[in-house]
Amino acid sequence: MPIIVLPDEVAIKIAAGEVVERPASVVKELVENAIDAGAKTIKMEMRQGGRQTMRVADDGAGIPAAEVELAFARHSTSKLSRAADLDHIATLGFRGEALASIAAVARVTILTRTQGEDKGTLMRLEGGKVVRRESQGAPQGTIVTVENLFYNVPARLKFLRQAVTEAGHIADLVTHYALAYPHLRFQLIKDGRLSFQSTGSGELLDVLIQVYGLEIAQQMLQVASDQQPGVQVEGYVSPPALHRSGRGYLTFFVNRRRVQDRLLGKAVLEAYHTLLPKDRYPLVILNVGVDCDQVDVNVHPTKSEIRFLKPNDVFSAVQRTVRRALTEGTPIPMVSVPRARPETTRFRDFERGPKSPGGQLALELQRTADLPAPQALPTKLPMLRVLGQIWQTYITAEGPDGLYLIDQHAAHERVLYERLKAERARREVSNQQLLTPLTLDLPPRQAAILSSRLEELAELGFEIEPFGGETFLVRAVPAMLVEGDIAQTVADIVDELAEGGQVEALEEKALITLVCHSAVRAGKVLALEEMRDLIRQLEETDQPRTCPHGRPTMIHLSADNLARQFGRR
Ligand code: ADP
Ligand code: MG
Repeated sequence: MPIIVLPDEVAIKIAAGEVVERPASVVKELVENAIDAGAKTIKMEMRQGGRQTMRVADDGAGIPAAEVELAFARHSTSKLSRAADLDHIATLGFRGEALASIAAVARVTILTRTQGEDKGTLMRLEGGKVVRRESQGAPQGTIVTVENLFYNVPARLKFLRQAVTEAGHIADLVTHYALAYPHLRFQLIKDGRLSFQSTGSGELLDVLIQVYGLEIAQQMLQVASDQQPGVQVEGYVSPPALHRSGRGYLTFFVNRRRVQDRLLGKAVLEAYHTLLPKDRYPLVILNVGVDCDQVDVNVHPTKSEIRFLKPNDVFSAVQRTVRRALTEGTPIPMVSVPRARPETTRFRDFERGPKSPGGQLALELQRTADLPAPQALPTKLPMLRVLGQIWQTYITAEGPDGLYLIDQHAAHERVLYERLKAERARREVSNQQLLTPLTLDLPPRQAAILSSRLEELAELGFEIEPFGGETFLVRAVPAMLVEGDIAQTVADIVDELAEGGQVEALEEKALITLVCHSAVRAGKVLALEEMRDLIRQLEETDQPRTCPHGRPTMIHLSADNLARQFGRR
């Protein structure tokens, strides 16, 4: 076939394929337009997961009658005019192709009016062609209705998922915009029923409650970087005790644009290092603010990929800010105790209450009053007085604000971990020569790994030398391990090293394995003096509340809870 220039209607369908992948992509573009137009309230409606209808109504600036047609032309935008503008984009849209793309693959109706006009404009397009246009009364703002998405692109229609799935994507998208723009009111109606709304109060915590529920929202820790030029980081992160099995709860915005970015994910996980159990992920909602000339948003048609001009600055600002929120705010898990006054009593109170209709509201207010911004407890432990040991596993101690149960193994792990880290940093890991060297016989694969890793082990305090074949001589071990099972520890460390990966990550794993084998076991009887020693050492660590695997070292039963339990309150 000879080369031809594709007809416009083919070209636009190809381009539309990149912008409009599914119903949620339509809602995304329309919501972004509404935000760019300065809307305060954005109402969305969908039927059958958007496959039948999607409607986005805003109270923004509207489009002047003379420009409505132009808005649907390809590469038409009011948001930039010169190539140089691409270097500092402050709006969500700028490519001027969303409306054109949507109109090319659906039936679209727009009703819009600007402040200065008496009448609005109604226009309907099918497959990109205007089929109707007239003046009509309309509120200020813009209402775009999109019907029968992909009715003229059978290949795409085939790939649409069930209505519930598509509806899920739309709801997910809307809640994320609500999180990014707490000062705007969002409302989502699904098949005629209200499915989500935010108040527009400007408080991110309010939206968090709407999205994740009260119980999770009240545990989240607020993050805010110091006000300084460069990179600003703000949002909420979960305390180490609250985690999920996938990365699905890591949400990032850059200048309030939702983005997928590996760098930001890495920076956050780095901040949680040693605080979370293996393969668990935190809940994170962060907005990273950078000057618009420090980020390139024109990487992909969906604009969800970005490039930072100075990625290292962004990485360290995010990592530092989140880490600080975690160290300042990690609370000790509380033993949760049912409220002393059962629900029914409270209900009766409210029915009898003098201002009955307001009673429910008062109750709600009381509940939210229990929920000020998550309390930032100091990382440092209060002074604890050891009472005794139970099940040879937990140390009981009294503090100024209640009773503490401390896991002796986890606590000791934390102590040893920080000690070893400090020794390594000073390059003076203390080790001890064995009176008689220990002979180790390893399976061939392990033996091969060990021979190649003797240096890493030396850095932990092991002196091991090959003794021919698969045999090794252990001459010295880290001081903390002297009483532990040396052969088992070496074998476990070799297994860790065998998994491969980044050097630092491997060293870290080896270190944690060593610490785990060296720490006092559960089931060991401890003398009062030993327990006091351990608690004193724990008090001196930087992160006394979790072990290096991320499990809590202690739980706390507050004096207040006890009083409730015994009916003193
Ligand atoms: P872009 O957002 O990249 O500029 P679009 O195709 O999404 O491109 O929109 C084209 C133009 O139409 C916008 O630049 C804007 O001027 C106008 N427009 C679209 N939606 C709205 C809206 N909801 N309110 C006001 N103007 C709008
Ligand atoms: Mg747009």
